Amino acid sequence: MSDVVVVGSGFFGLTVAERLAEQFGVDVAVVDRRPHIGGNAYSEAEPTTGIEVHRYGAHLFHTSNERVWEYVNRFTRFTDYVHRVYTTHHGEVYPMPINLGTVNQFFRSAHGPDAARALIREQAAELGDRTPSNLDEQGVSLIGRPLYEAFIRDYTAKQWQTDPTELPASIIKRLPVRYTYDNRYFNDTHEGLPVDGYTAWLERMADHPRITVTLDTDFFDESQPVNKSATVGRVPVVYTGPVDRYFDFAQGELSWRTLDFEQEVLPTGDFQGTSVMNYADADVPYTRIHEFRHFHPERDYPQDSTVIMREFSRFAERGDEPYYPINTATDRERLEAYRARTAEEPQVFFGGRLGTYQYLDMHMAIGSALSMVDNKLAPLFGAGVG
Ligand code: FAD
Repeated sequence: MSDVVVVGSGFFGLTVAERLAEQFGVDVAVVDRRPHIGGNAYSEAEPTTGIEVHRYGAHLFHTSNERVWEYVNRFTRFTDYVHRVYTTHHGEVYPMPINLGTVNQFFRSAHGPDAARALIREQAAELGDRTPSNLDEQGVSLIGRPLYEAFIRDYTAKQWQTDPTELPASIIKRLPVRYTYDNRYFNDTHEGLPVDGYTAWLERMADHPRITVTLDTDFFDESQPVNKSATVGRVPVVYTGPVDRYFDFAQGELSWRTLDFEQEVLPTGDFQGTSVMNYADADVPYTRIHEFRHFHPERDYPQDSTVIMREFSRFAERGDEPYYPINTATDRERLEAYRARTAEEPQVFFGGRLGTYQYLDMHMAIGSALSMVDNKLAPLFGAGVG
């Protein structure tokens, strides 16, 4: 038997596995119930065009964490891709996030930063001193009614399948408006895409003589050699699956939003001229379209075909892929109850987005895995060898 079991081969699980194998000389068994490694960051070439498709939605790497940046560069180089998003509203395309370009295009104006700030402040004052009681009022109080209704209201309603007047104000805490023409989507120090794709990067992390990865293996399937009852209590287990599933949903199910993707290969070299186009209006059922060729303009992709993916958002049911935690008051109560139960399992270390029920960007998942190794696993395995 291995020295440690890691459940889940996403960025969290693979970071833990790689560090334990390389730094501590530990034998690690990684299991994943999917037929591929990499969790939600997995990507593959669309067979007819060779265009790299991010199977679980577009993934853009960005970080300001120097330790994470140094770590990930051991396994891949990054392109100089800079992410920018546009949105279609009433037949016109605007730059996102809302910036001076968006404001001036929308109001047919030529405001400088101060005049734009004054305009938005005046429009956002509509509610007076009243505390927003729902997401609709919150949106108006943050950026004023015209911009909120054009760019946020219907998009949010599509994401949540719920009228924003019935959603809690707390869903949107900030709606930053940039008073410059800078429409870079991320503000981080480092940004880029892995030169030869996510899966090559993830495979290099797993490629270590002390790591074995077994796919198509559900940790709760007793017929598999590595499963919960055969391992827990015998070796340390790092569990990155859903925390409620680990406890047989005993405290109730945690709620998630999921996404449906519709992929299409089109006979054109360029469908939309950019990687991500949002659709802000209610009459378009999807929230956005990804066009994958634009993530890698440096690659030699075919000039006569392209791959697009329409994204639809809805509440997850059991069996759907959990993507974004909903985090209602009931979810928070249940999570507290599960956290109390995890404390009763000293040999099981819960991590990653599913194991802790929180949205984590990739750099956050990697950073928190490095911290888990430092703080919780290193003491079990000694001083380290590397
Ligand atoms: P996961 O990648 O989900 O890996 C968990 C693994 O555990 C899965 O492979 C799963 O199959 C396995 N597992 C679960 N249960 C079991 C079981 N019972 N037995 C065996 N295996 C099991 N981050 C960014 O930085 N930039 C982005 O642009 C970005 N875009 C995103 C878009 C979407 C739509 C989503 C949902 C996420 C996005 N992320 C992005 C976040 C990124 O996907 C996460 O940071 C990353 O997936 C976290 O890794 P993880 O290892 O915690 O979880």
